[in-house]
Amino acid sequence: MSAPRAWLRRIAIALGVLFALLGAAAGYLLGTYDPPPVDPAWAVAGNQEIPPGAVSVRWTGTATMVFSDGETTWMTDGWFSRPGPLAVLGGRIAPDVAAIEHGLARNGVTKLAVVFPVHSHYDHAMDAPEVARQTGALLLGSESTANIARGWGLPERQIRVVHDRERILVGKFLITPIASRHFQFADPRLRERALGDPDITAPLVPPARALDYKVGVAWVLHVAHPRGSFLVVGSAGYLEGALDGFAADTVFLGIGGLGSQSDDYRETYWRETVERTDPSRIIPIHWDSLTAPIEGPFRGPLRAEGFLARGSDRTLEFLKAKQAANPRITFATLPRYEPVVLFR
Ligand SMILES: [Zn+2]
Repeated sequence: MSAPRAWLRRIAIALGVLFALLGAAAGYLLGTYDPPPVDPAWAVAGNQEIPPGAVSVRWTGTATMVFSDGETTWMTDGWFSRPGPLAVLGGRIAPDVAAIEHGLARNGVTKLAVVFPVHSHYDHAMDAPEVARQTGALLLGSESTANIARGWGLPERQIRVVHDRERILVGKFLITPIASRHFQFADPRLRERALGDPDITAPLVPPARALDYKVGVAWVLHVAHPRGSFLVVGSAGYLEGALDGFAADTVFLGIGGLGSQSDDYRETYWRETVERTDPSRIIPIHWDSLTAPIEGPFRGPLRAEGFLARGSDRTLEFLKAKQAANPRITFATLPRYEPVVLFR
């Protein structure tokens, strides 16, 4: 009887080693991050003093930004929950109310006029209804975003569905949402799941799967203020000609996923967003990892993403070449939470 027992023990040890190796590989892919695809030399510090009437911005990573002119404060996305990789890949996710409270407090926000998710994927719109609930903001967006808000129980009077090129005055900020395109995922199956059948047609009640947060409309926001104009491009997508006539002093340029696109795609994206609007400053956004903790240093994409994309990230190389070719344009990346003066 001792021989079979010895075999069983060997099999058990072999299985144990195998699982440990698989666990280590998964931990490596899901727990380590590539460096962010931005030049550290672009980093600007927060401003201690905000002159009266100046327009300032505070960034929390991805496309979550708070804009203020001292009189009116409003924000894009308001995404603070940042569920980890396992919940996003296989589980269900929901707004983290405490994380949202914390995120708003770190941005100095108590009252907001408007929260406007740039599209309805979870990393933009999931928390916006709770942000609206905590701050009294009016939530603006597509019908899909409205259905995320309804699923969270936000009252109808705090929800407004907007239309392509509608001009929306929020204090002295004139916001024009322009219907555009989301960036096209390189992986055809993910592309179909994240972008095919784009609308959320009924109230979405969390917890839900990450991909239940369908894209809705991918907006580019053009914002005109007496002190200056800017463009928020939350996703590295474009519609040819859509930004014709929308000049902007500053472009918040979404670069997430840009590295996995073709050279041709990157060039066209640059032409359709930057060359169409002729900015003097570019502030790359949406380059930080979605699953890294909200505090601590910014991380680049999860190693697993690079592994799945089966290609090296060409984003930084591309942006540096554009910077060299356009010396008139200043490149800047924002600190987390701290206010930076956009226009004096
Ligand atoms: Zn998206």
